[in-house]
Amino acid sequence: MKAKFDREMIITSKEIPPPPLEDIRVALEKALSENYKEAQVEIVDCPNLTEAPFGLAAPGLGGKTALADVGGVPYLVPGPAKWLERVYNLDHTASQVDIPGALVIGAGAGSKHDVGVNSELIPNIRTRGGENKRRNLTHCSRIDPADDSKSLLLRYEEDLNSADFTLLGNLFFSEGKSSSKVLKVTTKTRTGTEGSIVTCMRKGLAEAFSVPVGMGGTFLQAAGTVKYHVMPEFSACPLDSDDKVNAWLRYFNFEAPFVNMATFISKDPDLDLRVEHTHGYSTVNQTGGHYHYDVTPETIEYVGYFTPAQKIYRIDAPTETHMIGRD
Ligand SMILES: [Zn+2]
Repeated sequence: MKAKFDREMIITSKEIPPPPLEDIRVALEKALSENYKEAQVEIVDCPNLTEAPFGLAAPGLGGKTALADVGGVPYLVPGPAKWLERVYNLDHTASQVDIPGALVIGAGAGSKHDVGVNSELIPNIRTRGGENKRRNLTHCSRIDPADDSKSLLLRYEEDLNSADFTLLGNLFFSEGKSSSKVLKVTTKTRTGTEGSIVTCMRKGLAEAFSVPVGMGGTFLQAAGTVKYHVMPEFSACPLDSDDKVNAWLRYFNFEAPFVNMATFISKDPDLDLRVEHTHGYSTVNQTGGHYHYDVTPETIEYVGYFTPAQKIYRIDAPTETHMIGRD
């Protein structure tokens, strides 16, 4: 039987050659310093990110890199959600962006075919087809059917034996090599008004560079509390405004430690992109969801590792699009 993701998809792409790493470092440090009391960005050798607290499926973020924006919010809202037809697969996307065996991290929607309900996907997988053994550490977070004020964290491989997702995904691909230099970002105590470290970095790059700069990476919420959302089951009524989307989503304040998988691009090179999307999870607290912003500026602390993307792909873009629900 043909897999649900094995179908014709329109794929477009653009090369986005990154500026020199030192220039990115300076731009990020400037933006973060304006928003956090302590902010440091350094160019470092990539530590082994398979180790705690990060726990990635591959040691580094190096080698060939790419971002992909797969599907899109218009497959979910206004609805009915097109989860039956818009099925994708993490191993398959790695071959679609021509990095077989890639480490894939980022944000997406879990497959209702496998999870049973709509959910948040936190991709973290070394895909098949490369030199290294496949390793799927992807998780998903769903609303607890026994108590809808709680969320449940599931292991995508062990609990569901799946690498599929539906509707949308914002993914960062690398060869997972530890040989490349990366940007280490450390911040402590927020003094500015931008509650999202990802938005802060993205806007800093947009200010510093006229060309689009794409980034991916992982960051630990080392201290403090952050607001996340988890999508509940699909809405019976069409979600035709941001207000309706916000009323439908379930919001949670999750404590540290919590590891996020970030994707962002400073500006959209006319590909109808979602310019940032970050999901994460905590195996310590058994929580997971979509990252919004910290709610404890005095105590928030982050440490993360990021690297630029060389190319941006747009896969299976909706033909009818809108700007609802992209933050
Ligand atoms: Zn999300």
